[in-house]
Amino acid sequence: MSGLDIRQVPVLNDNYVYLIHDVQSGKTACVDPAVAGPVIDAANKLGWTISHILVTHPHYDHTDGIPEIVEAFGSVVYGNRHDFGQIPKCDHGVLDGDLIELGGTTARVMEVPGHTKNHLAYSFDAENAVFVGDTLFSLGCGRLFGGSATQMWNSLKKLRDLPTQTQVYCAHEYTNANADFALSIDPDNADLQARADEVIRLREQGRSTVPSTLEQEVRTNPFLRCDIPAFKTMLGMADREAEEVFAEIRSRKDRF
Ligand code: ZN
Ligand code: FE
Repeated sequence: MSGLDIRQVPVLNDNYVYLIHDVQSGKTACVDPAVAGPVIDAANKLGWTISHILVTHPHYDHTDGIPEIVEAFGSVVYGNRHDFGQIPKCDHGVLDGDLIELGGTTARVMEVPGHTKNHLAYSFDAENAVFVGDTLFSLGCGRLFGGSATQMWNSLKKLRDLPTQTQVYCAHEYTNANADFALSIDPDNADLQARADEVIRLREQGRSTVPSTLEQEVRTNPFLRCDIPAFKTMLGMADREAEEVFAEIRSRKDRF
């Protein structure tokens, strides 16, 4: 598919750190290093030098590994310009639409507020891969810690507008718990039932459920379906705005 070799490094309880290696140039980006040790080990084992660190938002489980990785590799750190002071060692403050070169390829910065006020996603458009941090999860989405429901809904729509074959790389393995909630509100969705079964099987085998494709998420993830008439009707919210539907199911999930 592309000249990118993408590896997932599972750390802490349920975090995923990503290494994105541009094969031709040898440049390697690390997304959201929650910790340093296992990430540095993974890079060394692959013979990769982490040249870039891409930060989606300044929560500790996305940034704590930065200083040690910078020390080990001299990596350059990117994050939202408005979070500049909160991201350790941040070199470049970026904003929506900025392009970050990684050797021969490019990450496009997308502002996707909601989980935090200044949350970013990084889209490798040419490779159909997007790194979404805690905005969109498989079968779920991030909690609202800094943005409004309307902002989050708009951010999810922005991600949903990417090509359907896009691979979605999120920062947590939450899929199993998300499946339970999704089935509780959308029990007759056959695609969701099939995905939930697959998730159980994968987790029993100790395997990751991430990435998924955007197409799969659009069919199964309730938080991406808030403007679908049949979905709204099923929730008894046929005449409500999509963002109100989103706010309702987000708050139900908080209490689930
Ligand atoms: Zn977070
Ligand atoms: Fe997180």
